[in-house]
Amino acid sequence: MSLQRAEASTLFCNRDFPRRFESFGMPHRALIGLGGNIGDVEKRFSRVLRYFVKSGLLNPLRTAPLLKNPPFGFTDQPDFINSLILIETKLDPHGLLRYLLWVERRFGRKRSFPNAPRTLDLDIIFFDNLQLNSRRLTLPHPHFAQRDSVMIPLRCLCADDPGPQCSQ
Ligand code: AMP
Repeated sequence: MSLQRAEASTLFCNRDFPRRFESFGMPHRALIGLGGNIGDVEKRFSRVLRYFVKSGLLNPLRTAPLLKNPPFGFTDQPDFINSLILIETKLDPHGLLRYLLWVERRFGRKRSFPNAPRTLDLDIIFFDNLQLNSRRLTLPHPHFAQRDSVMIPLRCLCADDPGPQCSQ
């Protein structure tokens, strides 16, 4: 991560991020990246979490703190908020991707141009220990290791660290 970008990023928390949830023993684990920079993104992330719980197809296990960070690519747009949700799921990788793309649309995502402002972006960062390169899906998610938006919340998730200003 570049020092300049990391310094421009801020970790923060609310009642859903970071948080732990009960396991229902579903067979697969996946790490989902969330992002958005239009409207009330924090509220939307909490609604997505409740939507996941109700689906019966996947279940959140843990969430990371939230990260406010500057856009890359197309930079003339508001800062992004990003986080991660570790889930367990009954779905296979392509089934999970189809479900997440559907949830993005359900929460108002419109595709215009690469790196455009967005209400909700959902990515599969890891799915079990799988490595996959199909037409629709690359696992682990390409370039995740170069993205502050993944690596900073991931460090907190792995270290069980709620992040600065977040210790309750
Ligand atoms: P994006 O514009 O970042 O939301 O890209 C969405 C497209 O990337 C999807 O339609 C997928 O087919 C493709 N894609 C490839 N690998 C992944 C992944 N690991 N997670 C999510 N989308 C992926």
